[in-house]
Amino acid sequence: MRKFFQAVAIVEVSPDLADRLYLDQASDLVYIMRGIALVGANTISLLFFEYRGASGGELQKLLFFLLFGVYGAIIWRGVIWLRTPKPTGRDAKRFIDDIRGLDIVLGLLWALLLIWSMEHADGDQRSLLYGIMVGCMATPVLVRPISCAVAFWLPLTFGAIVSLFMWQRVDPFAVVCLIGFTSLTAFCIVFLNKRMTERAISTIRIEEHGEVIKLLLRDFEESASDWLWETNAALQLQPVSSRLAQVVHKRAEDVTGTFPQALLGDVARFEHRVGSPVYRLNKYIEDRSPFRDLVVPVIIDGEERSWSLTGKPILNKAGAFAGYHGVGSDITSQRRSQEQIAFLARHDSLTKLPNRVLFNEVLHQACARCHEEGLALLCLDLDEFKLVNDTYGHATGDGLLIAVGERIRGCLREGDVAARLGGDEFAIILLTDDVEEATAIGRRIIERVNRPYYFDNQLVTIGISIGIALAPQDHTGPSGLLKNADLALYRAKADGRGVWRLYDPDMDERLQDRRALQLDLRKALARQEFFVEFQPIVELATGRVLSTEALLRWRHPERGLLSPAQFIPMAEEAGLIGAIGTWVLNEACRAAAVWPAPIRVAVNLSPLQFRGGNLVQVVDEALLESGLAPERLELEITETTMLETNSQTVDALWKLHGRGVKIALDDFGTGYSSLSYLRRFPFDTIKIDRSFIRDLGYEKDDSSIIIAIIGLADNMNMSVTAEGVETREQAVMLADLGCTRGQGFLFYPPLKAEEVAAAAIASARLLPVLAADNAPPARDVA
Ligand code: C2E
Ligand code: CA
Ligand code: CA
Repeated sequence: MRKFFQAVAIVEVSPDLADRLYLDQASDLVYIMRGIALVGANTISLLFFEYRGASGGELQKLLFFLLFGVYGAIIWRGVIWLRTPKPTGRDAKRFIDDIRGLDIVLGLLWALLLIWSMEHADGDQRSLLYGIMVGCMATPVLVRPISCAVAFWLPLTFGAIVSLFMWQRVDPFAVVCLIGFTSLTAFCIVFLNKRMTERAISTIRIEEHGEVIKLLLRDFEESASDWLWETNAALQLQPVSSRLAQVVHKRAEDVTGTFPQALLGDVARFEHRVGSPVYRLNKYIEDRSPFRDLVVPVIIDGEERSWSLTGKPILNKAGAFAGYHGVGSDITSQRRSQEQIAFLARHDSLTKLPNRVLFNEVLHQACARCHEEGLALLCLDLDEFKLVNDTYGHATGDGLLIAVGERIRGCLREGDVAARLGGDEFAIILLTDDVEEATAIGRRIIERVNRPYYFDNQLVTIGISIGIALAPQDHTGPSGLLKNADLALYRAKADGRGVWRLYDPDMDERLQDRRALQLDLRKALARQEFFVEFQPIVELATGRVLSTEALLRWRHPERGLLSPAQFIPMAEEAGLIGAIGTWVLNEACRAAAVWPAPIRVAVNLSPLQFRGGNLVQVVDEALLESGLAPERLELEITETTMLETNSQTVDALWKLHGRGVKIALDDFGTGYSSLSYLRRFPFDTIKIDRSFIRDLGYEKDDSSIIIAIIGLADNMNMSVTAEGVETREQAVMLADLGCTRGQGFLFYPPLKAEEVAAAAIASARLLPVLAADNAPPARDVA
């Protein structure tokens, strides 16, 4: 029972909602009551004819006229209501109250009429009355609000029941049917009214929310970069907002036509490739389906921009398509920055060439179809790029990389891909596996890159080495192909740089070989496979041994004696140079300590030995342990060491110099010779590289350079040693040019430590080499 009352309870509403509800109910009520009045009046007319001659018809006639009057009043009240301009909730309530009153009268009149008529009816008429009775009782089911329905239903039903019991012979079937019917209509009135009211309330609420949403949207459109658009069923744009007009750079009244052409302009006409965004947009619209965040291009004032469009079809009450509404935003800048980020992720920021990520992708794709379409992979590496960076600074280094990138690109055809893999490493994928073509391009790149560059009025040159591998011939997988091209590059570097080399399978073998040697090198120190030889340096004028240079040797158990040129770079690469260098230093100091003073020992230092940071300490310990006077130790460093930009190197040199250790500049003239570093540190000795000595006495000799070096050294109080002196002519010329010291096979080859003392004693007794006509005091020239 409680449930029943809950189900039938009138829905509770707030006062302002009640007003809307009254209006809603009134607008339904007026039409339903009109219908009821017309049908009711019609029924009354029928009954009137039916009972024309019945006895006691006066009361019946009165009832007929009264009913007509009430129906008329209902219609009349409806007309008044419909004519009310801008009706309020209160107007609606008054209308409903009036109709309720009329409904009560109507119900009572019908009840009386039924009771009276049933009493005076014959069999056929009773059936008709019974039918009318049921019809009348059903009518309130259509009426809402419930008060109006009940106002009619209650008296009528009461009258109907009374009239049935007033028959002389109560028909039990009719009574049962009437009771069932009464219950059903009662339930329907309550239940349907409750349902309709609830529905009306939710519709009102949705409408109200819709208003709020509209307000918010307008607010959003004014403040955000987004804008709203709307079309009618014919896809004609509805009047556009000022925001949208502003976006398309037109006046609002000029933005007319059908969507999307009217907004997208020319793009909508031309961009019709299957699958293109415009194609998809048109498809959605054709299907009248919704779309979301669809990014389409637009041309606005000749500039291509990107819009993100979202649209939803609107359906009218009948469920038919009534147009689209949606939102759009200009995401051009967002897109551009996204594109830029995507570009940066796959390109080198400096040269704008593809980076390793993109390059690997392209290489994978190219390798996947290398059986149909062969390719050539070129690995490129700048020669001595670090020196350019160190000499001219990083800005010039960067400028050089950009310029090199451009020149490389200039050598390629469309479809070829050049990438910067990092540092001074580049790589190229050529769409050909033709050896001639690939090597021709390699040659062209070397030639172009070699041409001088100008930065800030400075002339800078750089070389490049190239390794080439072909697919499918050399390898078909990306990593294998890269490895092979790298091997070829390694070969090119080893063959003197500035050249290209094609991969050949032997290279693999050589690499394996090199790896094995590197493994051996790691163990060489512990296995005591190293030893040091000492090559004397003599005074040219007297032939006296002044000093010696310590030269490292490796006696490999299988490969025999190896020269430092073969393994020192490897030791540097493998990080072993520190330990090996320290060992040489100790050996050299220990050996020199037993030689007669003032014979010195010179030890070669790798630039990497300065990076450890403990060089000074290592030298101190070697001197302390051997007891050698610091003045008898000389350290040979190269220009490369001096080009290290950090001050650590120069600090260490100054500290060593402070202890009395001599510092020599080795291989002078072969490096970059920016010479500025000569001012940063006072060298004791310059060693002229043997490449300058070799051609002395021949037609195009380097004597002018030697003269310049000697002049410079004189000026800066440095002594000069000539390296690689092999002939007496060279020695004579060097002496003539003012060079005071020499080192070379002419005088002595590298000697065992114990041989040095004897050589020194012997040389002291010898006549000056240059003065005498007799043979020089050298042993066999190897
Ligand atoms: P370097 O400092 O220029 O050493 C001189 C090289 O010239 C030695 O080669 C020596 O044997 C060679 N030589 C001497 N006289 C003549 C000559 O009359 N004609 C010709 N053609 N050559 C001559 P070596 O011993 O093979 O050393 C090669 C390089 O290895 C050295 O060049 C030096 O840079 C490096 N090196 C040698 N020992 C060490 C070391 O202990 N530590 C480091 N870091 N490097 C070393
Ligand atoms: Ca040297
Ligand atoms: Ca040298």
